[in-house]
Amino acid sequence: MTKQDLPQLSKPKQGLPCNGCGYCCNSEPCALAKEFLHCATGPCIALEVVEGRFVCGFVRNPLEYLFMVAHPDQRGSVLDAPPDMDEGHQLSVKIATALGLGQGCDAEDDIQSALWPLIFKSA
Ligand code: SF4
Ligand code: SF4
Repeated sequence: MTKQDLPQLSKPKQGLPCNGCGYCCNSEPCALAKEFLHCATGPCIALEVVEGRFVCGFVRNPLEYLFMVAHPDQRGSVLDAPPDMDEGHQLSVKIATALGLGQGCDAEDDIQSALWPLIFKSA
C-alpha cells in the first residue's frame, strides 16, 4: 500500500468521536505499544488500515502482535483474521479499555495536529 492509498482524514477536535485519522499513532506510539510492542517511534507497528480508516491492530489481533515481537524472525501474517480464541478476545477488550476506545479523540489539538494529514503527505 502506498502513502497515496492511506486514509487522508483530518483530525477531529479532542473529545469528538474518533474517525480513524491515524494522527496519534502515526505521530507517536502509545504507552502500550512502547511497553509491549517495543515500538519507540511512530508510526506504530500495530497500525493497520481497514476500510479507509486507521485502526489499532493491537486491539484487533493482540496475540499475533505479541508473537511477532517475541519472535521477530518468524513474521506472521498479522493482517489475517485473528484466531477465535477466548484469551485473545479478553486481551482485546482489556487493551481497548486501557486505550479508552469509544471515548473520543484523546490527541491534543495543536499546530501539528491541525496540519494533519498534510504533514503526513509531505513527510
Ligand atoms: S484518537 Fe484522534 S488522532 Fe487518533 S485516530 Fe482517533 S481521531 Fe485520529
Ligand atoms: S498500539 Fe494501537 S493505539 Fe497504541 S499506538 Fe499502536 S496502533 Fe495506536
